Amino acid sequence: MSTSNVIPGSAAVDALYDEAEHWHVNTGNARIHAKRLRGRWRTIKWASAAVWLIFFLGPYLRWDGRQAVLFDIPNRQYHLFGVTVLPQDFWMLSLLLLFFAILLAVATALAGRVWCGFFCFQTVWTDIFTWIEERLEGPPPQRRKLDAAPLTRDKLRIKATKHGIWLAIGFFTGFSFVSWFTPAPSLWLEFFSGQANGAVYITVALFTVGTYLLAGFLREQVCFWLCPYARIQGVMLDKTTLVPTYDERRGEPRGRVQKGEGAQQRTFGDCVDCKQCVAVCPTGIDIRGGQQEGCITCALCIDACDEVMDKVGRPRGLVRYASLDELEGKPARPLLKRPRVWVYSAILLLALSGILYGLSSLDAIDLKVLHERAPLFVTLGDGSVQNRYTLKVLNKMPEPLTVRISVTGPPGLTLVGADAPVNVHEGGVTATGVFVKVPKKNLTQEQAPIRFRVEAVRPNGQAIASERTSVFVGPPR
Ligand code: SF4
Ligand code: SF4
Repeated sequence: MSTSNVIPGSAAVDALYDEAEHWHVNTGNARIHAKRLRGRWRTIKWASAAVWLIFFLGPYLRWDGRQAVLFDIPNRQYHLFGVTVLPQDFWMLSLLLLFFAILLAVATALAGRVWCGFFCFQTVWTDIFTWIEERLEGPPPQRRKLDAAPLTRDKLRIKATKHGIWLAIGFFTGFSFVSWFTPAPSLWLEFFSGQANGAVYITVALFTVGTYLLAGFLREQVCFWLCPYARIQGVMLDKTTLVPTYDERRGEPRGRVQKGEGAQQRTFGDCVDCKQCVAVCPTGIDIRGGQQEGCITCALCIDACDEVMDKVGRPRGLVRYASLDELEGKPARPLLKRPRVWVYSAILLLALSGILYGLSSLDAIDLKVLHERAPLFVTLGDGSVQNRYTLKVLNKMPEPLTVRISVTGPPGLTLVGADAPVNVHEGGVTATGVFVKVPKKNLTQEQAPIRFRVEAVRPNGQAIASERTSVFVGPPR
């Protein structure tokens, strides 16, 4: 046999076989130390994880002179890029939650657990923690050796550094979380001078410990045992869903490459049983066993297997993103012919339209009108009927406003107590009492609608206003 017929790269595969003894399918009794390989999906995984930089940097973004996004819970105001959302506008939050829930369902139906594999905080933080572990302790065999070795000064130094960095990441995770709820730049000073609220210290401490334990120790166990999404994903997938899949028809029967074996002599399928797909799997499962609850669809096994296929001179894609239909030889169903895509898209569109409508119709100032009930009205000596109202003006702008009040209603109406404009500080509410008088002869019904209006001009010249309808009560007719 000429050497040119020998399966290319079989020497390199030999090295993988030596290594293969280390890789075992996760049975839950040993810590997973996954191998790291470069590849297309690894790059995509890093790029998608970078989305989380928004979590750390977002609180420092400024808009209109204040924190761009601030969930100011003590004052029950939520500032989003110049728009202030109040608790009464929270119906938008329901739509936002619906939007993300459906988005998650769509993504899962089309491409499996992409959220888990590429965006979930648990898998992203675990990925970063294990990357640090690898930088300090070396690749998996070295790490296992270090774990089993007796405690020496060197081991203590490496382990202390690792745990110190993990705790620091946990701390910054907690600190960044709190920064969305309290002005971020001043939080640094308040926190480290001991002047921050007790709830801030408790939250940061909980996040620090939680992140350290979940990403440092529990890792894939969270995906297996704690995450409810892993349980419900089964109902969202169907035979058209694209997920990382092992092509059994092409790969089986699996078998190792024998020394000096020629391509024509090989009686096995394309799977050379090197276990590289198991080695790189962060949850330690074997993709060759079919779709499994433990698969977070991170696609790292695709990179691993493609690299092996390159070595043995076989086409890439033995493990690839594919649907069950495709593997059974059925034609792929076009996206637009799937009813669930239409249903999900319609719900997404509705939720998004509702949110956009809500945001675009938010007033810059808000007016509440409370009609005095005791007494509902008084008849004055001049024959007119008088009602009393309390007006509450909320200023959602970042600067103080001088607000003018006016009212329209039955003919002859006069407003008393609102001659001077009302001052409302930024983000504040000012309550003011006013009287409305109407000549009795002009009242044609016991209750007549009246409409209050507040208006102000911002320093930049923008006129803003808000109106609220109430009722004017007169004697029975
Ligand atoms: S599927 Fe690919 S990576 Fe996994 S054992 Fe077979 S050849 Fe190796
Ligand atoms: S089987 Fe593949 S896609 Fe699934 S979790 Fe493991 S490496 Fe990721």
